[in-house]
Amino acid sequence: MKVKTHSQAIEDQKQKILRYINAHHPPECLDCPKTGNCHLQTATFVHGGPADAVGIVGATFRKKALNPWIDFYPDRCIQCGLCTAFMDQVAGSSQLQLMRDQDGFVIDMAYGDQLEAGVSGNLVDLCPSGAIVKAGEDAHFYPNDIKKSMSIDVMDGCGAKTLVTAHKDKVVEISAPNDVSKNHFWISVIARFSVDGLIHNRALSPMMKKEGKLEPVSWIDAFKAVVRKVADLKPEQMAFLAGDGVDVETLYLLRELLDDMGVSHRDMLSRPSGLPFRERGDYLFNTSFEKLREADACLIVGHAPNRDSPLLKAYLHPYFRNNEAQIATVGVEDERYASLGPFSTLEALAQKKHPFFEVLCAAKNPAIIVGDQCLNGEDGKFIYEWSRLIAKASGCIREDWNGFNIMHSSITTVGGLDVGFYPSKGGWDTESIKRMVRGRQIKLLYLMHAEDLPFGSLEDTFIIYQGHHMDRVRSMQILYCQAVFIPKKMGFM
Ligand code: SF4
Repeated sequence: MKVKTHSQAIEDQKQKILRYINAHHPPECLDCPKTGNCHLQTATFVHGGPADAVGIVGATFRKKALNPWIDFYPDRCIQCGLCTAFMDQVAGSSQLQLMRDQDGFVIDMAYGDQLEAGVSGNLVDLCPSGAIVKAGEDAHFYPNDIKKSMSIDVMDGCGAKTLVTAHKDKVVEISAPNDVSKNHFWISVIARFSVDGLIHNRALSPMMKKEGKLEPVSWIDAFKAVVRKVADLKPEQMAFLAGDGVDVETLYLLRELLDDMGVSHRDMLSRPSGLPFRERGDYLFNTSFEKLREADACLIVGHAPNRDSPLLKAYLHPYFRNNEAQIATVGVEDERYASLGPFSTLEALAQKKHPFFEVLCAAKNPAIIVGDQCLNGEDGKFIYEWSRLIAKASGCIREDWNGFNIMHSSITTVGGLDVGFYPSKGGWDTESIKRMVRGRQIKLLYLMHAEDLPFGSLEDTFIIYQGHHMDRVRSMQILYCQAVFIPKKMGFM
């Protein structure tokens, strides 16, 4: 017997089946924003299912904006309940509910007019019917034209894995990979929709300020301008600052170059000045998100997971929800957890005079999470030392368990500390560099992705900014060079 897997009869049969399925499906299948994430659409695209739908104008579907990033089409909803379950069990919000209206049941927001941000962007991946989609989705990419690659979220300090989708040479989507080991399929809204920053408003060639106006120049001219400037200056007249989202490889190479040049004034904007870095364990999230689920008591210092790290909140939420762990905060208010008061409470905890110290001691695996935002300046040093004392006294740091964690807000900080991107002997830190720039003592300031510096016009300082967007540094006397972004290093753009 001869078995044929490709023949006109089989093709016709496949088309008939697809037409049948599509007859019960909105007719704009090939235009649906689920592009690349829908088996039905892929099959329809390959086998040409709704050919007789050509000429049919897509039905007018009702649309509702859930928040600035996500739209909801109630007519496409099959009421599977995945979105409400996700919001309740992972995102920790009861905002999205299955409710009754005059036509039956409908998914809607039970309160508020905007769906909480946090990790709600994952609904776009979860919703199987295309009812919840990215807002303003107007470009459509067919499965044959796209390429997917793994990357890392650079928008916060969680280091979530991401899946980057490129259409031809452009990144068009950032989503969560199908990998439970790192971030449980979830990424934050900011990570998911940061793709807009990759597409819009980017300067793509070196630019130099001439007579007060930024003008494009060639790379050769840009390098010549830098070489001329550096040749005239002593190392102590130069300073280098790294902002958020710089990869470790770049920081390592820059640090090597600065060592060769003898430049000691260098720092990362995200490095908290009160954070010691004697040992790696001083500044790491030692427990790891995965093992944090083994903690049965947790003290969170100066960090609001709901606001600062939605992914961490998604990890903590099931334990909080099931009352499996006692979680309390110090220095911030987070409605989901008990608040122990201001940072001064840490002193009472360190002196074993606060009842929550007993809770930590009684726990099998106690954990402390300290947000890096509160570790700046003199207060930051005290907050760190008190937290460390509490961790040691309560059994957070043992041979078989390390529950002492620093939650960084920038992906750059840990890698930068690992490769030594901080002031070398006699060098200035970020605050001192800022003072010296204002005092006209720095003649060349190099900013690697460092935008948040309200210097205004600095006529005596030659500024080299290497990054993606220059909106915030436009007013400075400047040479702009396009930086290599992490997805770009992977060959997308
Ligand atoms: S996940 Fe999509 S299809 Fe399922 S209930 Fe929610 S909106 Fe409807």
